Amino acid sequence: MYADVIIDISHEKLDRPFQYAIPKRLEGTIRPGSRVVVPFGGGDRSMTGYVTGLSDTPEIDPSRIKDITGTPQGELAIEDQLIGLAAWMKSNYGGTMSQALKTVIPVKKKQALKLKKTICLIPAEGEAKDILDDMCARKNHSIPKERLLRALINDRELSWDMVRNKLMIPAAAIRDMESKGLVKIIEEREFRLPTGNLPEEEERPMLTPEQMEVLETYKKRRDEKKPFLLYGVTGSGKTEVYLQIIEEVISGGRQAIVLIPEISLTYQTLVRFYRRFKDRVSTINSRMTPAERYDQFERAKTGDISVMIGPRSALFTPFSNLGVIIIDEEHDDSYKSGQIPRYHARETAIQRGRMTGASVVLGSATPSVESYERAEAGEYIRLDMPHRVSKRSLPHCEIVDMRQELKRGNRTMFSGLLSEHIKDRLKKQEQIMLFLNRRGLVSSVSCRECGHVIKCPHCDVSLSLHRGGRLTCHYCGYSMPQVKSCPNCGSAYIRGFRVGTQSIEDELIKSFPGIRVLRMDADTTGGKDGHRRILEAFSNREADVLLGTQMIVKGHDFPGVTLMGIMIADISLNSSDYRGGERTFQILTQAAGRAGRGDIPGDVVIQTYQPDNYSITSAAAQDYESFYARESEYRKLMKYPPFSHMLSIMISSEEEGQAAGRAAAIKSFIDEMSVIGAVVLGPFMAPVGKLRDVYRRVVYVKNTNYDRLVFIKDRLERYLLNERGYSKAYVSFDFDPMDFM
Ligand code: ADP
Ligand code: ZN
Ligand code: ZN
Repeated sequence: MYADVIIDISHEKLDRPFQYAIPKRLEGTIRPGSRVVVPFGGGDRSMTGYVTGLSDTPEIDPSRIKDITGTPQGELAIEDQLIGLAAWMKSNYGGTMSQALKTVIPVKKKQALKLKKTICLIPAEGEAKDILDDMCARKNHSIPKERLLRALINDRELSWDMVRNKLMIPAAAIRDMESKGLVKIIEEREFRLPTGNLPEEEERPMLTPEQMEVLETYKKRRDEKKPFLLYGVTGSGKTEVYLQIIEEVISGGRQAIVLIPEISLTYQTLVRFYRRFKDRVSTINSRMTPAERYDQFERAKTGDISVMIGPRSALFTPFSNLGVIIIDEEHDDSYKSGQIPRYHARETAIQRGRMTGASVVLGSATPSVESYERAEAGEYIRLDMPHRVSKRSLPHCEIVDMRQELKRGNRTMFSGLLSEHIKDRLKKQEQIMLFLNRRGLVSSVSCRECGHVIKCPHCDVSLSLHRGGRLTCHYCGYSMPQVKSCPNCGSAYIRGFRVGTQSIEDELIKSFPGIRVLRMDADTTGGKDGHRRILEAFSNREADVLLGTQMIVKGHDFPGVTLMGIMIADISLNSSDYRGGERTFQILTQAAGRAGRGDIPGDVVIQTYQPDNYSITSAAAQDYESFYARESEYRKLMKYPPFSHMLSIMISSEEEGQAAGRAAAIKSFIDEMSVIGAVVLGPFMAPVGKLRDVYRRVVYVKNTNYDRLVFIKDRLERYLLNERGYSKAYVSFDFDPMDFM
């Protein structure tokens, strides 16, 4: 056996793997990411390196390949751990070592941290007024200082920017007052958590028997080094379980990472962690500048914090003694990176766990088919919480067949049943959520005479009709005015289907006079806390209905909501990839879980054109097992993940001929390799065949053995390096893709 070893990443010339032989005594202990000692260069100097991959074929004359000397002893520095992880990612997902390193190690940017400075008055009001009088009594006293003191007597605290820019006070004057002990200047990072203003320690709830059992099992079995899958219905109290796991971990001097999809990373979610862990916890998110994230990572490294909460990239927090990685909503698509290396945070977390001894807890009410399958196979330890806390019942779900509604002459978006329920809630003054599953929704414009669809001239997708009457491309941003007649046949009968939250709002107001609607979608959540404002208003019962897309179903708890209406359930079933059914099931189950969180049991109405589809019927029954049974049958039959693995190779070029030519060459290269069990499909036009004027082709390879796909990728990468005919076509890899754009 041979190992590819990378020696030193900071060194441009050494930023590539060298092959070494694995001596018999080390076989089995060395895997990608292992740190090894190797002889290097003419003098065979001992150097430490990282294994990036294994293979059984020598690249050069085997007699010239040196042996690995051994594995280094002792604790690894945190950077070493992360470099090892990067090496594993590079080998497992493709791309270059430096792309992998940039993903795991944030680069320090020379960019000043934005500090929020506040000027506070120190003396009490009376004393301050005396000082002001004294000051004014003096001749030639400083007018700016007087102005500042007056302002501070009014407000006690003023922001630095305001004082400098509005009151026009020179910095020297402020500093002088500071040195005299009149004011103090507090510098805070803008993103520091408002821990100071939090309500005092909340009371620890008494754990439910289910929570207790789950925690016991976790403690008993974590030394088995297998990931845990916490499968608990919505409202079963998973967060409390996370909190207690973290508490135990940090009391043992170790640290915790909690991954939460960005969309659920709201104040409401975070506050539970802040309350419990105070200033030991920090968070990162995508709105922060690189410098701000860097700063949070520094705090982690120096031991200033013990808990990091964030989206996918928080996985790389440089904690040196990591005890646990928790991934909430582990099924969420956002855990898969869209950038090279296209890693999955779940797999990568498990790898980091393996390398550091941290346990991994995956939590979900609707586990991914992948994780559930691994738990069934005994690779993960399952922890179940099938009941809601304090015996709140799961909501009552009903499916409405919208085709029947149409037959009965109902042309509105609200079925008879949903209308009745809405009227009933309005009467009882209970709250309603209406959910529109937007994924894949096309508000395209087409000609009713000839069927012509208006498409983006740069992308192979239809344009969407927006409120102001403009047609916009969601992929590249191209926009043009709505057409008056069909460019194909000249007919004036050209119309848009506008099924969006906007049109539902319009219809609600028309059908239910006096109804108060809050709409939450990309249009209404602009600005820094657009989200929070809408949620707060709804929570304060300033509206009867909260209407929105995905954003409203993630993690918000509104005890007043007793009705959840799902406007059109089947939209994500029609998307072109194999995960449509799973997504539909997950989003419907989550949406349904939002109703009846308080004391009154809730109702859920699911409107659909495919009432018999198992994703919809199992979601209505809140029956994961029956969904899983059907879905896994289908995936096995079609050889889709997790029962097989898939490598998607995307070939893109501004010249269509280059893309097509390289795709064909790749296909035959892989065919010729004839790897055992490999099924090669394509080349095809990608689902979006042209994007921002770039032509896109794909080749898919399936194999039940992931390592064989890695092998194919490695070979192909080498082949592409030397192949010159199609240099204008770019090739990228995606393992077990989740986004089939
Ligand atoms: P999940 O994350 O599984 O959807 P949560 O952790 O949000 O569930 O819990 C649902 C609600 O139940 C929350 O309001 C939470 O504060 C409350 N809760 C959790 N555990 C307990 C408990 N042991 N006793 C009482 N209330 C609890
Ligand atoms: Zn476009
Ligand atoms: Zn036409």
